[in-house]
Amino acid sequence: MAKKEQTEKAGERMKDSCADVKCPFHGKLKIRGRSFEGRVIRKFPKRITIELERMIYIRKYERYTKSRTKIHARLPDCLEKEINIGDLVKVQECRPLSKIIHFVVTEKIKDTNLKQDSDIAHHRSIKQGDKK
Ligand SMILES: [Zn+2]
Repeated sequence: MAKKEQTEKAGERMKDSCADVKCPFHGKLKIRGRSFEGRVIRKFPKRITIELERMIYIRKYERYTKSRTKIHARLPDCLEKEINIGDLVKVQECRPLSKIIHFVVTEKIKDTNLKQDSDIAHHRSIKQGDKK
């Protein structure tokens, strides 16, 4: 094939545009700071709650413990249809949009349909200590 068809730029995956001012792709919202990946546990109009697990080091016991963190993130209009409860999404920090929202959803990583057994598969074997 000699002819090359130019479609869209590689960086722009979003087909639909939205009228949302607070959209990181089509609006004026700038994203910066930290980003996290988590599972959607609640969905509201224009807002979702995600939960993520992380390891926290406890100095006293010199060990790590699992901790769950919830993050409220803004859901832009263009992502509202494709994100549902249970999905794995990526959120990026932005300016505080309200009292509890200072993150915005930027990407959908995994669908609900895929199994979420990663936690169980990731189990660690606990050693029983020395017998003697
Ligand atoms: Zn948008």
